[in-house]
Amino acid sequence: MIDYDLAIIGSGPGGYVAAIYAARHKLKTCVIEKDLVGGTCLNRGCIPTKSLLNSASIIATLKEASVHGIEAGNYTIDFARMVSRKDEIVLRLRAGIETLFRANKIDLIRGTGTIVGPNTIKINGADPIFAKDIIIASGSKVAGLPNIEPDEIDILSSDAILKINSIPESLVVIGGGVVGCEFASLYNILGSKVTIIEFTDRLVPTQSREVSKKLEMSLKKRGIDVFTSSSAESVVKSGKLKIAISGGRSMEAEKVLVSVGRRANTDSPGDLKALGIGIEKGRITIDEYLRTNLKNIYAIGDCIDGPLLAHKASYDAIIAVDNILGKMRKYDYSNVPSCIWTEPEIASVGMCEEEARAKYPDAKVVKFPYLGSGKAYLMGKVEGFAKIIGDSKGNILGVEIFGEGACDLIAEATLAKTAGVGIEEWSRVVHGHPTLSEILQEAAHAFCGTPIHGL
Ligand SMILES: Cc1cc2nc3c(=O)[nH]c(=O)nc-3n(C[C@H](O)[C@H](O)[C@H](O)COP(=O)(O)OP(=O)(O)OC[C@H]3O[C@@H](n4cnc5c(N)ncnc54)[C@H](O)[C@@H]3O)c2cc1C
Repeated sequence: MIDYDLAIIGSGPGGYVAAIYAARHKLKTCVIEKDLVGGTCLNRGCIPTKSLLNSASIIATLKEASVHGIEAGNYTIDFARMVSRKDEIVLRLRAGIETLFRANKIDLIRGTGTIVGPNTIKINGADPIFAKDIIIASGSKVAGLPNIEPDEIDILSSDAILKINSIPESLVVIGGGVVGCEFASLYNILGSKVTIIEFTDRLVPTQSREVSKKLEMSLKKRGIDVFTSSSAESVVKSGKLKIAISGGRSMEAEKVLVSVGRRANTDSPGDLKALGIGIEKGRITIDEYLRTNLKNIYAIGDCIDGPLLAHKASYDAIIAVDNILGKMRKYDYSNVPSCIWTEPEIASVGMCEEEARAKYPDAKVVKFPYLGSGKAYLMGKVEGFAKIIGDSKGNILGVEIFGEGACDLIAEATLAKTAGVGIEEWSRVVHGHPTLSEILQEAAHAFCGTPIHGL
């Protein structure tokens, strides 16, 4: 007997979005969750980090207030309040998802789901449930370094650093990827002495070289020490932490953050290999419709290939459910934007400059600086640029934005690219004035050889 049309393992932005979308399409749905509803994104990722970063951005604004003729005087940081505000936001959003589950008649089953057959899931080893289709949305967990094991007191993972209740006087961040750079930015604004140690030759290596370089310069200008092409070799506790890095160098810090990536949760939903489900490079293998080798079992989000992003997990969720409904849609990550909440923000969609030049020798690349924007000027945020990369026919290949509001502005570029808007057509779209979005229109004009406010 089938209990559910669809059973979903995991309630992160992959699992919970799939559940609501499926229920809205009248599928009898359950979600199995072994921890907190909302997954990494809501409880240990996007939301708590951005709550703290938003609070910290007020400090950055206060520091710049005198330029606007406002003497903010002395301010104090009540970090405990900042942290409890973050916790309240998480709690409220979690309650929101649970309310949506109830409103959509989705059963939330608490426990560890183990798939024991193509249609069968055991929860905490108890009586099985039967489902016509299954989605594995088991997400990912923090990855470590063999030589530096977080004790979660002084040597912290990204999960544990979200729980500290005082601002460290100094922080060494091992790993200059997105998560590492966001925490570095946060604690730099909060007043910690921050150092980043990155193994590759640049920060945020998923972005273009130019963006990596600009970020490094910008973080250094803000007082962050950056060591690229360097590896952390050991962390020893003796009073302060002593961190040895390659080249015989060392430094001291009150706390260390180890942020060197994440590992997919492929073992928690059961012995997938024994069931015939493929696992490659630590992630569940899927076909172009997000199906595993068992055609009624789908996998989405961080546990499969592709960028480890909440909105990518939610995108997968809709595709998987559409395919369960028989729509047979193929996934395509070429229009998934990437957003980084450093100071300043970074966002991109599509190919970066190097990728586009390698693939399209006649690719054209045009940049428009924030300096040319009235809105950027009046905000006092003139650092940065928007870059459009197009092919010889004027189609968008990629867009990079480095500067204030980049993570919101990228939505316009994503819409244009997804909808196949040509760059000339984009330049003709009327943009409100004065807004930062005019920077994108100016970049589109510049691409067409008709810059208005640029040289
Ligand atoms: C510090 C940090 C900041 C981030 N910031 C951003 C950001 O700003 N923007 C962004 O897009 N992305 C961000 N991410 C990434 C984002 O959080 C993930 O990409 C996203 O959460 C993946 O969603 P998911 O649904 O695939 O998995 P998850 O969110 O990891 O959820 C998986 C869920 O499955 C549950 N589960 C696993 N196995 C079982 C089982 N057998 N039975 C029952 N339950 C199970 C887990 O408990 C978990 O709740 C950040 C990540 C981190 C760590």
